[in-house]
Amino acid sequence: MTPIRGLTATAYTVPTDRPEADGTLAWDRTTLVLVRATGGGQTGLGWTYGSAACAAIVRDDLAPVVRGRSALDVPAAFEAMARQVRNIGRAGAAGYAMSAIETALWDLKARLLGVPLCALFGQASDGVRVYGSGGFTTYPHALLAEQLGGWVHDRGIPRVKIKIGESRGTREERDLHRVRQARDAIGSYAELYVDANGAYTAKQAIRMAHAMDEWDVRWFEEPVSSDDIRGMRRVRDAVRADVAAGEYGCDLYYFRRLVRVVDCLQIDVTRCGGILEWRRAAAVAAARGLEVSGHCAPQLHLHAALATPNVRHLEWFHDHVRIESMFFDGFREPVEGVLRPDLSRPGLGLDLREADVEKFRTYGGVGD
Ligand SMILES: [Mg+2]
Repeated sequence: MTPIRGLTATAYTVPTDRPEADGTLAWDRTTLVLVRATGGGQTGLGWTYGSAACAAIVRDDLAPVVRGRSALDVPAAFEAMARQVRNIGRAGAAGYAMSAIETALWDLKARLLGVPLCALFGQASDGVRVYGSGGFTTYPHALLAEQLGGWVHDRGIPRVKIKIGESRGTREERDLHRVRQARDAIGSYAELYVDANGAYTAKQAIRMAHAMDEWDVRWFEEPVSSDDIRGMRRVRDAVRADVAAGEYGCDLYYFRRLVRVVDCLQIDVTRCGGILEWRRAAAVAAARGLEVSGHCAPQLHLHAALATPNVRHLEWFHDHVRIESMFFDGFREPVEGVLRPDLSRPGLGLDLREADVEKFRTYGGVGD
């Protein structure tokens, strides 16, 4: 047995390139919590985006029940973590921390076996489609057009998403104006998606969806709060666009509730519990005849998505693309809107640029 020797977490906080906001939140920085799992002379990497508190949970609550276990038996380590967080609550920071550890353990296992991570599960496809995601409500028109047009016309990504629901749903006219601007920027053939981040009421979302039909909006993400299950169902049943949600899910019960009321289930591998839970959540969706979409963190989703048959696409999210391209050697770029792995590299195929990212470190560090 090769034991898991070390399990450390480090938080890095990276300022955004510009002020950013969606319908219900504004931010100017992003924190990546990186987990390193070591054993057998190899190091596996996993991460989540969230509070630096996730790093403290790794150190204080989770590492003690994972260290010393077999590096090859990832599900056993996951179950030990799931039991360990009962009293601190799995949904939220603990679930995010578990996800970072779980993905690091899969990366470690694949590196120990000398294979790309997707080879552990077997591939359902050799590439995954992505959609460009940004279009923040803080962007002036010229920047919105430049970002969206860049994805569609320069990068060949034929689907993009913008944020709407500005100021908690109180700027409907501006929302519609920006949807029109987005359509103008991408032309008539690319798919246009919107994300309200739960800013609207159900009837308001239905009215907005009907108004947005003029610009052929195909995807309406979180039209209402993801906690409003009845409202989500009302919207889904009334609109032409696909209704999508699921980005906050930390366990399979959450996804089971949501698959009853969406057209496409979003799953975030950095939140849901990791790669195995991502695939199990995709199975929950498959049992309802639904496809799934990876939420954010595209470099961490790639191998999980390759192993999952009912994947629609991954989110090429501006903030995380920028951070992951700065942080990791082996970063993959989509070609004509499709992301493919480098199968010559073991594990996730990513190596941390330690020296480059040290300036962003805000919590923990090597040698903890
Ligand atoms: Mg969203």
